[in-house]
Amino acid sequence: MDVAVFGTKSYDREFLESAAEGSEIRWHYIEPRLTEATAPLAHPFQAICCFVNDEISADVLEVLAAGKTRMIAMRCAGYNNVDLPKAHELGIQVARVPAYSPYAVAEHATGLILTLNRKYHKAYNRVREGDFSLSGLLGFDLNGKTVGVIGTGKIGQLFARIMHGFGCDLLAYDVKPADDCVALGAQYVPLDELLAKSDIISLHCPLLPATRHLISGESIAKLKPGAMVINTSRGGLIDTRAAIQGLKNGQIGSLGIDVYEEEAELFFEDKSETVIQDDVFARLMTFPNVLVTGHQGFFTQNALQAIAEVTVDNLKQFDAGQPLTNQVKVD
Ligand code: NAD
Repeated sequence: MDVAVFGTKSYDREFLESAAEGSEIRWHYIEPRLTEATAPLAHPFQAICCFVNDEISADVLEVLAAGKTRMIAMRCAGYNNVDLPKAHELGIQVARVPAYSPYAVAEHATGLILTLNRKYHKAYNRVREGDFSLSGLLGFDLNGKTVGVIGTGKIGQLFARIMHGFGCDLLAYDVKPADDCVALGAQYVPLDELLAKSDIISLHCPLLPATRHLISGESIAKLKPGAMVINTSRGGLIDTRAAIQGLKNGQIGSLGIDVYEEEAELFFEDKSETVIQDDVFARLMTFPNVLVTGHQGFFTQNALQAIAEVTVDNLKQFDAGQPLTNQVKVD
């Protein structure tokens, strides 16, 4: 089976090649991401492989359906960039990798907290320049702090376990409470209570119409003043303009994000020689208490290997005409 891989990076090739060894899958690597302009490149392929920043809108799906494409193998867990009802209507099946390494993301969220708190990024540069002063590096003990976990699925539960290990008190909010979190001592509370009582809030719920801008001007006003907000889930969970206001008036004490609402135009590419046109993002970059990573939460060897293996399994099932175990169905 010939499969077009959109938005291919060198690391995708490495792990996809290895996972497909000995199989009938032949990868065709396409560097640009999937957009309406690049969608015709998919025409000869029955299956294509996509990622979080590909545009899989109704218009793009129409272009795909006009060619041979009947399956989209997402090499990620999230699928908020896919117009699922349209895919269903056009007879294009969508599969994903529901769980690869939740540890990768939970550990990255922890890294954001530690870096924002203890300012390792500043300390690293200072020491390399022979500056061993400590002013400006003051942090706080995580032990005894209250951490609010919003979304206690696979990643949120692991994150809660890590925070429990630091000696934090746990508050949780989810539409479906998890026994593992309760066993850790986490207290499920209404969202407003979590916002008001948490020193650190970490988002681990999916981006849905119900969760878009969960962190808004209104919810930021309910925060414990100076709270740290962490988002390794999806950019759209935070209203970035409201977060900027919250940072300016001190309601948000620090912000660590691995994802950004408008990241599709920025992330995964080297833009170091480009003038950034996104003024909201540019403003965010001016705060000393903001840390942004470019959607690298998933980026561990373990996760990339698991993603490639499950993607290959999904494609093999499609090729064999079998039901797709990891099919994303319309609700
Ligand atoms: P999961 O499906 O296991 O857990 C999501 C949890 O959110 C579930 O417990 C669900 O009940 C809960 N939830 C759903 N709607 C909610 C709502 N309205 N309010 C509160 N909670 C709600 O997913 P997961 O594997 O833990 O992943 C969580 C998110 O992390 C994904 O949706 C994805 O967007 C993101 N993610 C990011 C990266 C990265 O590289 N940064 C990698 C993988 C996943």
